[in-house]
Amino acid sequence: MRIDKLLSNTGFGSRKEVKGLLKKGGVTVNSELIKDGKRQIDPSEDHIEVFGEVIEYKPFIYLMMNKPKGVISATEDVTDKTVVDLLATEHALYDPFPVGRLDKDTTGFMLLTNDGKLAHQLTSPKKKVDKTYRVHIDAPLTSADEASLIAGVELDDGYITKPAKLTYGNDNTVIFLTITEGKFHQVKRMFQALGRKVINLKRETIGPLKLDPSLLLGEYRELTDEEVAGLR
Ligand code: URA
Repeated sequence: MRIDKLLSNTGFGSRKEVKGLLKKGGVTVNSELIKDGKRQIDPSEDHIEVFGEVIEYKPFIYLMMNKPKGVISATEDVTDKTVVDLLATEHALYDPFPVGRLDKDTTGFMLLTNDGKLAHQLTSPKKKVDKTYRVHIDAPLTSADEASLIAGVELDDGYITKPAKLTYGNDNTVIFLTITEGKFHQVKRMFQALGRKVINLKRETIGPLKLDPSLLLGEYRELTDEEVAGLR
């Protein structure tokens, strides 16, 4: 990659600011003074310093966010605030995008990354990655409803959902539903098919990862290397 892109991605400002930095003679690659922003470097091989500070470059970023209501899971939007708008510059610089979608009024675990391969693995229906939602519904389910959620329900468009898992929270209107798919408004439509209304929806888990309970709505943190490895 180009040295100016690397420096920009690691927080040294815009391409223009980085150009100024290079011009000042502050940047070395393997001890060689570099002034040309177009210079190609290999971040995993080359030793890069900016005024003596060693640059540690990681190509990918993985963020766990507790998405609040009112924010949409997109990278940009003309009217609404997006999950990317909630990121600090040092994280936004990596151009992360949300993995899958949560509705504007859904809260909980949103994963953001710039690792397209992992994002694809997590959203591909073939991979059957479990996602657990805490669903607060308006009225309890019958045992026949429970059975059809588990076996597969027919949605309004005729699609029959894949088998799901279901447990209860501390109330018979609070359900933890685990599904492996991510059809448009899937959870809401599954309950709608049974004549129930979803009052609150929160995603709690993606694959082996549980939303960090210390994250308040709108907060996020980087995943640890172990957590990222667990998602692969
Ligand atoms: N299912 C829904 O209906 N909404 C979401 O946000 C996620 C899953």
